[in-house]
Amino acid sequence: MSTTEKSEKPQQNKMLNATQGLKNIMGRHFLAIEQAYRDGTPTAWATSGSPVEMLYAMDVQPMLPENSATVSAAQKYSQNFIEMAEAEGYSYDLCSYFKTNVGAVLSNAGMTEGGTRKPTFMLSTDVICDTHVNWFEVQAERFNVPHYTIDVPHVVSNSSNRQYNYFKKYITEQLYEFIDFMQEVTGKEYDEERARKVTENSWNLSETWKNIYELRKHIPCPISTRDTFGGLFPLFTMPGLKAPIKLYKRMYREAKERVDNGIGALKKEEFRLMFEGIPFWYNLKYFGQLEKWNAIIVYEPYTYAFSKYMNPKVTKEMVLNTPVEAMSELMLSFWYVYDLETRIKKFEETVREWNIDGVLLHNNLSCRPNSCGMYDLKRHLMEDYDIPCLIIDADMNDPRKLNETQTLNQIESFIEILRQRKKQ
Ligand code: SF4
Repeated sequence: MSTTEKSEKPQQNKMLNATQGLKNIMGRHFLAIEQAYRDGTPTAWATSGSPVEMLYAMDVQPMLPENSATVSAAQKYSQNFIEMAEAEGYSYDLCSYFKTNVGAVLSNAGMTEGGTRKPTFMLSTDVICDTHVNWFEVQAERFNVPHYTIDVPHVVSNSSNRQYNYFKKYITEQLYEFIDFMQEVTGKEYDEERARKVTENSWNLSETWKNIYELRKHIPCPISTRDTFGGLFPLFTMPGLKAPIKLYKRMYREAKERVDNGIGALKKEEFRLMFEGIPFWYNLKYFGQLEKWNAIIVYEPYTYAFSKYMNPKVTKEMVLNTPVEAMSELMLSFWYVYDLETRIKKFEETVREWNIDGVLLHNNLSCRPNSCGMYDLKRHLMEDYDIPCLIIDADMNDPRKLNETQTLNQIESFIEILRQRKKQ
């Protein structure tokens, strides 16, 4: 009998009690959207990576179709919506969030199925990917609503300070122009004081999330992906509100208590993993299967990235004094715009600091920014830093692209390699 067979029975992986509050918070977000429609308050679709804080600062209710797409996947509607989009002519290889949204709009899906209603306007940016811009172009035309897009140049390894400053100025100009756009479309005045309060809340939300992540450095790790995969949503749907800060503080306190008492999310923790990429929203239970090998994911760049205040140039003082400039600085330094060299460095640091035994890399078949450079990343981590890595092919919203058994077999073999390394 192999060592893996001995521990086949899954453990009881404990979610934090505080995380249960996430349902309420997200429920309130969707209620706020409904309320905005009832009151005739302006609403806006926004892509992840865009400065949602600026919408809250103008009392515009944001809706994030990517978040809605994950709802579709969790409710098992996404495949149907994706196939509807493909029947319309959208390619099998296009982003499955986009296609989920196309299908949801075509079928007039409700919010509990991942539908999104016609907004007052749309806000997109190419900070993470060009799909965002094309997606909103298509839907803005369908709904016949105005669309504002923010173009963000990428800083690469040989970009000079002069270029960086130029990029920042270029983005800042667009953000001020966006304020003019919102004032014109909504008839509301931009209130600098309100913007300061919103960005302060956004800062506090991010800091609390980062503190939670610090606790994950402990052995055993007090928090698993049961808390973080869903826990990330307030970071990009509600940055600027107070309620999610309270939730994160409760999560932090409970996790800290676990750390103080030497309690882990797993009963027995043997292998600490990193998972890079977007999870499979249609099958989150899949990740629970790691527990039968006493393995736990202790870090996900994806859920950490949305804490976004990672640029040391962006201080709390800057956030309070010049919120618009702080937003443009943040857009230039988002995790998913890192060049390969910075990404490799970041991964190596993280593996060391969080005591990670191996890295699972999700080669997401519908997301180029997530998967681009993944084989080079793997090669460098393995050859230059002796970090074991496994690439798995799947998709965040399209269940057709995950071969469950084959992938699980690959992970089992990978865990066996980690086990042998520990014995050496
Ligand atoms: S391509 Fe990737 S980053 Fe772009 S919208 Fe789709 S999932 Fe998001």
